[in-house]
Amino acid sequence: MGKLRQVAIYGKGGIGKSTTTQNLTAGLAELGKKVMVVGCDPKADSTRLLLGGLAQKTVLDTLRTEGDTVELDQILKEGFKGTKCVESGGPEPGVGCAGRGIITSIGLLERLGAYTDELDYVFYDVLGDVVCGGFAMPIREGKAQEIYIVASGEMMALYAANNISKGIQKYAKKGGVRLGGIICNSRNVDREKDLLRAFASELGTQLIYFVPRDNVVQRAEIHKQTVIAFKPDSGQAQEYRNLAQAIENNTMLTIPTPMKQERLEEILMEYGLMDNLEDDYKI
Ligand code: ADP
Ligand code: MG
Repeated sequence: MGKLRQVAIYGKGGIGKSTTTQNLTAGLAELGKKVMVVGCDPKADSTRLLLGGLAQKTVLDTLRTEGDTVELDQILKEGFKGTKCVESGGPEPGVGCAGRGIITSIGLLERLGAYTDELDYVFYDVLGDVVCGGFAMPIREGKAQEIYIVASGEMMALYAANNISKGIQKYAKKGGVRLGGIICNSRNVDREKDLLRAFASELGTQLIYFVPRDNVVQRAEIHKQTVIAFKPDSGQAQEYRNLAQAIENNTMLTIPTPMKQERLEEILMEYGLMDNLEDDYKI
């Protein structure tokens, strides 16, 4: 049994963190890996595709009703091919810091023995554009050692990815956390792969995988499944398996070198904006 890899997935809201995490962990599960997914978003939708829509009570909600008597099987459910699924949940709206929930949840999972020796991976699907406060918890406390950022060729996604890298850089200097790469979840932007490669290289990391945009993702989602479960023979399912394999094989773990806003804009100009302007306005 190899060493446990604890992985955190960051990226702008709506970029596809939860979809990508569940599909790639389904791919890892198919490879025979033992995986736990810990949803770190008050939305608590990090595991619904793995669980086939089973309503998972969050750790914080369970603590509120059960108090100290909470048991592991109340907060950890088995999903697709034995993946272990947890949702940390959030405080009641307007009450307290949402990031606290992550700290509480991981602490409780540890006390209840969720981090077993047989696990190969723990994935934390973390809300937020920036690595700050409670949302930095998985990396600040040295839980997650390996980070992947989901991004696309859209400016705000890259802006968020660069900001997240600033947080990672800060914690990398103090501890062992490293950036494993950028996952591009395509938005069908022109020259998106080249742009993401240039962006990743400027950050001192790699574009680890380019996931195409495909409507089968939405169809699978309506059926409360990952694409791998819903359409195992589809091209998109194979893409997610390839992503899983790329992460399984990855040895490139670096301290990111975030860029200044001006440099980010320069890269955007070079790969996107200028071309579009030329196409659209024939300048
Ligand atoms: P996040 O967790 O980052 O907030 P989600 O994973 O919830 O984002 O994704 C947002 C939406 O984007 C979902 O409704 C999902 O169906 C869609 N989506 C994600 N990835 C793809 C893709 N590769 N192709 C098509 N739709 C996608
Ligand atoms: Mg999400």
